[in-house]
Amino acid sequence: MRSIQDAKRIVVKVGTSTLTHDTGKTNLRRMSRLAAVLSDLHNAGREVVLVSSGAIGVGVGKLNLAGRPEDTPGSQAAAAVGQCELMFLYDKMFGEYGNCVGQLLLTRDDVDNERRRRNLINTFTRLFALGAIPIVNENDSVSTDEIEFGDNDALSAVVAKLVEADALIFLTDTDGLYTGHPQEDAQAALLPVVPRVTEEILALAGPSGSNRGRGGMITKLQAAKAATEAGIDVVICNGAQPDILFQLMDGRQAGTWFRRQETGDGKGGSAS
Ligand code: GLU
Repeated sequence: MRSIQDAKRIVVKVGTSTLTHDTGKTNLRRMSRLAAVLSDLHNAGREVVLVSSGAIGVGVGKLNLAGRPEDTPGSQAAAAVGQCELMFLYDKMFGEYGNCVGQLLLTRDDVDNERRRRNLINTFTRLFALGAIPIVNENDSVSTDEIEFGDNDALSAVVAKLVEADALIFLTDTDGLYTGHPQEDAQAALLPVVPRVTEEILALAGPSGSNRGRGGMITKLQAAKAATEAGIDVVICNGAQPDILFQLMDGRQAGTWFRRQETGDGKGGSAS
């Protein structure tokens, strides 16, 4: 049975709650550790894509706004400022470890339109060949209801399929999927492995735990369903210590592993 350890191409998604403090300001310690860990995985021969949220959250912090803007132009403006700051920090931090990053900002049109989709795949392919680390976000400054992915959990499943990743790893603010609400139910247990994302599994999702990002457990489970059905292994784990990625890549248990399904085209193989 293939495990996460064997994944050569991985997509790592990090959420706003992991990248920012409760104050709304950037969590520099965590970001720099994430850059160090991903750089080392890259140096060890893995192909890494980072799907990073945080544009709006970091923009809110940098502009000293009281909270997330409620109107679209406000969010778009915060994202324009925050995306710039995010990439400045990633470029600096990955650069300290001798690695190169490239920014890709996407809207749904970019993957729905066949020609743009093909161009996008070509860009990813060339970035991998050049040894650069693609960093992806939704293009929040131009994105509106009609063309948005909605949240970066959905976006990361789309990206994982686009680049034919072996694994998609969500770094979030909970340890994984529980059988109940861990803060309210003493009996709630972490599920180490989910063989298939069924209706019963989807029903385990509670509401989003943070007000700084958009997604929650339900959007991650929906993304896990889409990715596993496309033959991609998925893990939801706690991003408070980005070193958890080493644990996973060394083949040790962490978070909840959603096993990929057979796709009939050679991808997948969770049943073995
Ligand atoms: N694209 C949004 C941002 O960078 C995040 C969306 C999400 O939290 O899923 O702020």
